[in-house]
Amino acid sequence: MSGAVSRRALAAWLREVGVDYVMLPGGASPPGPAGSLPPGEPSGAATETLDGIRGELADCRRCPLCAGRTHVVFGVGNPRARLMFVGEGPGSEEDRRGEPFVGAAGKRLDQWIARIGLRRADVYIANIVKCRPPGNRPPVPDEAKVCLPYLLRQIRAVGPEVVCTLGGTALNFLLGVEEKITRERGKWRERDGVPVLPTYHPAYILRNAARETEVFGDFDALAARLRLPPAK
Ligand code: URA
Repeated sequence: MSGAVSRRALAAWLREVGVDYVMLPGGASPPGPAGSLPPGEPSGAATETLDGIRGELADCRRCPLCAGRTHVVFGVGNPRARLMFVGEGPGSEEDRRGEPFVGAAGKRLDQWIARIGLRRADVYIANIVKCRPPGNRPPVPDEAKVCLPYLLRQIRAVGPEVVCTLGGTALNFLLGVEEKITRERGKWRERDGVPVLPTYHPAYILRNAARETEVFGDFDALAARLRLPPAK
């Protein structure tokens, strides 16, 4: 069982017969509780590691956002996740700690992930830009354009089966469109052959609680696409 394709086929078959995860020899991630994701397969095109990409950004000065940052917020999670989230850019807490989605919005994202039976450590989380925009404003197109190639390389290195964008900024910059998240959330799209499901940003939901049921529907769609067992 050496090729990535045959291992993926085996993983699909195991899921069908009720095995929720398999530890592969030398697998980097520890087993999770029932319902956690089996280790994903890096896509056949993946030729580089997350650490290699991270190294290139360690002292990044490619855009003006570097001037105000404390940390480059690269990304976090299972390097072989089947599910990847893309947000907008680090806020102050993320900049301080060097990890995406660790503030109030991040806590809400963790709850959504738990709702489908997963843990933060099962998925991979990154942003359109890796340095905090001043005053938590959205990144401007020039900033996003400089940073996007690194995100695309992260997606290729992780090889997720599904990407979920959080908020309109992530949707528009990842897909190169200019659309309204209120119209486009919940509609499957694609980037470089990877299915993408846009949903609302958790910070938006913190201010608009009535819309959270739509997010729940989107997470149910993610779980169905990944054929996750029903969460307890
Ligand atoms: N909002 C984002 O879009 N990303 C983060 O990492 C934190 C808050």
